Amino acid sequence: MDKGFRFDSTCARSPHDPVSTPPHQLPIYALSSFAYESVEEGMRVFSGEESGYIYGRFGNPTVDAVAQKLASLETYQLDIQAAGMLTSSGMAAIALPLLGLLRPGDRILTQSDLYGGTTELMRQILQPLGIQPIFSNLRDPDELERNLKADPSIKLIYIETPSNPVLRCVDLGMVAALARQYGCYTVVDNTFCSPALQRPLAWGIDFVVHSTTKFLNGHGNSIAGAIIGRDPELMNDRLVPALRLIGPCANAWDAWLLHNGLKTLALRIERHGTNALHLAHFLLAHPKIKHVNYPGLPTHPDYALASKQMYGSGGMISFELTGGIEAGKAFMNKLQLATIAATLGDVDTLVMHPATMSHRSIAPALRESQGITDGLVRMSVGIESIDDILADVANALE
Ligand SMILES: *Cc1c(COP(=O)(O)O)cnc(C)c1O
Repeated sequence: MDKGFRFDSTCARSPHDPVSTPPHQLPIYALSSFAYESVEEGMRVFSGEESGYIYGRFGNPTVDAVAQKLASLETYQLDIQAAGMLTSSGMAAIALPLLGLLRPGDRILTQSDLYGGTTELMRQILQPLGIQPIFSNLRDPDELERNLKADPSIKLIYIETPSNPVLRCVDLGMVAALARQYGCYTVVDNTFCSPALQRPLAWGIDFVVHSTTKFLNGHGNSIAGAIIGRDPELMNDRLVPALRLIGPCANAWDAWLLHNGLKTLALRIERHGTNALHLAHFLLAHPKIKHVNYPGLPTHPDYALASKQMYGSGGMISFELTGGIEAGKAFMNKLQLATIAATLGDVDTLVMHPATMSHRSIAPALRESQGITDGLVRMSVGIESIDDILADVANALE
């Protein structure tokens, strides 16, 4: 490698030796750029005539391998050649399709029960750019069609199902069919389900977005997002430039941590689901619980729809205590096993108080109308022993 260079030059240079034996595990490519043998080779890669890497913001082998893996999970057993990309966060994954596909004057039709950050992104960033969100009830096909018919400037329908934190569901097949009829793109936030529980592309949806920070990573040790698109050409024309020019690319370390989590996704989601269903039944029968939101309970208003479009009910549950905000606070402070944290989808049980935490910036009247009452507690049920989870909750409710 020294090529006859001096000691200090040898220190500074990088080895470009190819790896002769393929690594069994995904390597972390910690680098910003790639090297070419000749100017001609560089020209062919830059022009796209030859496939290859250019610069870390444009693509990285670790990041791309994980993006492709997510695309294959979201299209499992579907005859779709989807493309995937990773972003620096879930919010970046939500923002890119909106910024890449829409222009001033276009409108977004969406629901009022969304992840708090998504509502704020639409209100604070997109609306001033001339891209207006319309908050409606996507569960009502008549209202949906009325809106689409009345307003041809609606170019995109943005869906979250089950929604945060009340777990209401939207019929993906119904929305996708109407969107197609009226020439709208569809985007679904699949964070709460992961492809282990719900694969929106199967129902005709155009784009799936994720906060991989949650169930996909599962261990709470990296922030990243993902976009999986049904049409690789559209992805390439509109979303790849948005990613490259705005720059919220994922880094190789976070992609690698995400990939470690993906290996156990199926096992984890199964356990999250059985634990959450157990807890849901326990809460439903408890005298101090007023109301339980869990799509796996026959008492849930979207039980039939969830059974149709999901392969299980997941690890997210929310419930209201009799005694409102004070009872909710006392309950959360008394928990020993569960941790109070503003995230979800980790292997350990987490609790959050939407009214004072995630949905704090939403007007109280609007919040209440979405079922986010002061006494509502959201729980991300972990994969611990169900006996410890039930004992913890029972004790905190005493
Ligand atoms: C956390 C979350 C987001 C935002 O993701 P970040 O990775 O925190 O940027 C978006 N949607 C849902 C449903 C989430 O839970």
